[in-house]
Formats: sequence, C-alpha cells, structure tokens
Amino acid sequence: MRPLLVSVVLLLVAGGCAAPQEAASARVAFPAGELVDLSHPFDERTIAWPTAEAFRLERVADGLTDAGYFYAANNLSTAEHGGTHLDAPVHFAAGAQTTDEIPLERFFGRAVVVDVTDRAEAEADYQIGVDDLLGWEREHGRIPTDAILLLRTGFSRRWPDAVRYLGTAERGAEAVARLRFPGLHPDAARWLVDERPLRAIGIDTASIDYGQSTGFETHRLLFERNIPAFENLTNLDRLPAKGAFVVALPMKIAGGSGGPLRAVGILPPAGSR
Ligand SMILES: [Zn+2]
Repeated sequence: MRPLLVSVVLLLVAGGCAAPQEAASARVAFPAGELVDLSHPFDERTIAWPTAEAFRLERVADGLTDAGYFYAANNLSTAEHGGTHLDAPVHFAAGAQTTDEIPLERFFGRAVVVDVTDRAEAEADYQIGVDDLLGWEREHGRIPTDAILLLRTGFSRRWPDAVRYLGTAERGAEAVARLRFPGLHPDAARWLVDERPLRAIGIDTASIDYGQSTGFETHRLLFERNIPAFENLTNLDRLPAKGAFVVALPMKIAGGSGGPLRAVGILPPAGSR
C-alpha cells in the first residue's frame, strides 16, 4: 500500500517582518494503519479547568421542518482549555505563537509514548522526570527530534470523574489548590528543550504541569520555544512505545491561546510493533 502523503505548505515569516519572505513546502509522510481516537467526546460531562467555563451545546433545531425535511443544528460554547485541547505557546509565553500561528507540521509527528502508569497510580502528584525519559531511551533508542512526546499516566481511565481525574470536582479559583494529578517535571522539560527538541507534547491529564504546580514552569519552558501541548488525551494505552504516528488538529482560532483538539493515532502494522 502506498504511504499517505500530506503536503503542508508553510509560510516562513521572519521575526518583525510583515510580509512572507520565503515559502517553503514541508511534506509529512505517515503510514497507512489502524486509527485510534485520542480525544474525549465533548458533552455535558467534559472536564474543564476549575476556572474555565464548561462545554455547552444548545439545540437550535432537531427535527422535521415545515418544508418537510429533517434539520439539526446547535450552538456551542466552550473554554479553550476544556476537554481534549491544544495549549498554544502564547498560553504561557508572551509573544509566542497563537493557535492559528502554529505551523501545521507541529500537528503531525512520530509518537513516542512514555508510560508512567504504575508510578502515577501510586502517587497522584508524580512528576515525570529525566530518568523516565532516559529509561525509555535505554529500551527504545534516542527520542527522535521530530517526535510528538506523549506522556501516559493512565489518568484518562478516571475520566469523567472529576474527583479522581483532577483531585477535586469543585469549581472556581479556590479549587485550583486542590488539583492532584501527574505532570512533567520542569527539569525534564528543560532537558527536552535543550537536548531533544520536540514537535509537540501531549498528556492524558488536564495539564502538562502536575496538579500541585503553582508556577507552571513546564508550560513556560516549552512554550517559550513554541512547542505546543495537547492535554486531556485518551487511549494512549492503545499506542506502542514507538512506531505510531499522531495527527492532532485544533480548531483554528485566530489569536487563540488553545482550542478543542481532535487527536488521532495511526498504529504501525502489527508485525512491526
Ligand atoms: Zn490547556
């Protein structure tokens, strides 16, 4: 079977220059394979950050019209940072890329899945460290520079139970201090940006910083380098440690700091896993 080819045309704009200086064509090749949905559905149970507005779907029409045909339509409203979503770099870095400014190639990449399920199950405040990443490399080889690093904590199994998933079902600014879930340690984020530059990073919890973080250093370290993050992913247990491909496309919100995300994994052929 021929590999699927996605052509991505990128306009490279020099900093401070309004006009595109150079048009480059980047091609992304990925294999044909079984698809795995890495997004949670958006519905009334969707978990959002305690200070973010819940997802809402308002039925506008759902039935036969006077003209005799069926018609369904809804209005929706949502925080950018609820459910499975993108964090654009500007979310924690002034002047960094907004949702619509992120180059398309950031949304396509080879998946590296680091599994810390056992440690996260034993300790909700677990922070994935450099040792976890080096442990993956000892087994699977060096993390490729164009990888999308996916952090599997197993917490997606707790969705949509907010108490078990977030640490609290309470809403509002005061609930933030009660958040308990694993994330990426800032030392590991620093090591990644210096030693293993990524296309993007993703996690099956509500944030790439652990729930008890107050300074969101991991966000800041990655976003200052324009590395976007995918949060509240699911089904990471269906991906192999390496060999899968990820496509994660957010709503193109102009000036956005994030947005709803449909993420999909493409499994390698069974024989190559
Ligand atoms: Zn977010």
